[in-house]
Amino acid sequence: MTREVDTAPALIEGIRAGDRRSLARAITLAESTRDDHRAVADEVLETLLPDTGRSRRIGISGPPGVGKSTFIEALGLHIIEQGHRLAVLAIDPSSRRTGGSILGDKTRMADLSHSEAAFIRPSPGSGHLGGVARRTREAMLLCEAAGFDVVIVETIGVGQSEVAVSDMVDMFTLLVSPGGGDELQGIKRGIMELADLVVVNKADGDLAAAAGRTRADYAAAVHLLRPKWQAWTTEVMACSALTGTGVDEVWSAVGRFGDRVTASAELPAARSQQATAWLWSEISDTLIDRFRADPAVSAMLQEAETAVATGRHTPTHAAQMLLDRFTAG
Ligand code: GDP
Repeated sequence: MTREVDTAPALIEGIRAGDRRSLARAITLAESTRDDHRAVADEVLETLLPDTGRSRRIGISGPPGVGKSTFIEALGLHIIEQGHRLAVLAIDPSSRRTGGSILGDKTRMADLSHSEAAFIRPSPGSGHLGGVARRTREAMLLCEAAGFDVVIVETIGVGQSEVAVSDMVDMFTLLVSPGGGDELQGIKRGIMELADLVVVNKADGDLAAAAGRTRADYAAAVHLLRPKWQAWTTEVMACSALTGTGVDEVWSAVGRFGDRVTASAELPAARSQQATAWLWSEISDTLIDRFRADPAVSAMLQEAETAVATGRHTPTHAAQMLLDRFTAG
C-alpha cells in the first residue's frame, strides 16, 4: 500500500525542500513496476519538471578496474568542496540490488557517501537497458529538483550502456588506464566518438610515464574523430584519482565545456533533442509492453515465433499479422 507520506503532494514538497528521504522514495516509486507507484511518480515528475535541468550532467565510463569509483570519489569530494551538491547515479543493466556490483556497494565511495552534499544511488537493477536508462533519467530529474546541481551518471564499459548514458548527459567522460591502446582496453571506436573528455587515470608512481604516453596517443586519436560539438574539441588529460593530482583540472574542463556549449546554444539544442528521443523511446517501450500484454497477441505470439523460426512465414508477414490483430483489438 502507498503510505500516507508517499502521496505526490507530500513528495513534491519534500523534494523541493531538498529532503533526501522524499527524493529516495520518489526514485523508488519511479523504479517500481506497480501502476499505482508509477502514477504517483509520474505526477511528481510532471509537477517538478520546471525545477529540473539546472545541473551539469556528466557521464563517466570506463572498463572495470580503471578506477571509476576512486575517481568519482576524488572528483566528487572536490566538487563538494567548491560548494556544489552532487548526485551520483549509475546505469548497469547487469546489476542486482543485492550484489556488490556497480555502486551497489556504497563502501565503494565511502567518504562521498557520508557527505550531506552528496546523494548516491545504485543502478535501478537488472533488466533491459532501455528500462534501466529510463529510470536513471527520471532519477536525474528528481535529483535536480531536489537541488543537486551536479549529476554524475556512471556506467561500466560494456558497450550499449555508454550510448544510453551519453544520451542523457551533457558531457561524456571516458576513463582509461595507462598503457595499451583502446583495442587493448576493449574500448570501441564508437565509444571513443562519444567522449568529450578522455582522462588517463593512475598517472602516479611507476605508471606516470606510461600515462603520459597514453595521453599523447589518445590526443592524436581524438584529432581524427568527427567533432561532436562546434564549440568544443575533445580534451585528453591525465590524473591520479588515488593521489588527487589533476582531479581539479578535470573539474575545470567540465566548467569550460559547460560555458562553451551553453554560450554557443548547442547545449539547449542537445538537451531538446535528448528529450525528444526519450519521448520516442517511451512510446516504443510502452507500445511493445502493451503489445505483449494484449491477450489476442499473446495467444498468437508463440506460434508466430515458431512459424518464423522454421521458415514457414517471413518475419515481415508474421509481424504484420500480429500487428493487425493488435490494432483490431
Ligand atoms: P572501477 O572498477 O573502475 O570502479 O575501479 P576502482 O575505483 O575500484 O579501482 C580499481 C583499482 O585501481 C583499485 O585497486 C584502486 O585502488 C586502483 N586505482 C584507482 N585509481 C587509481 C589511481 O589513480 N592510481 C593508482 N595507482 N591506482 C588506482
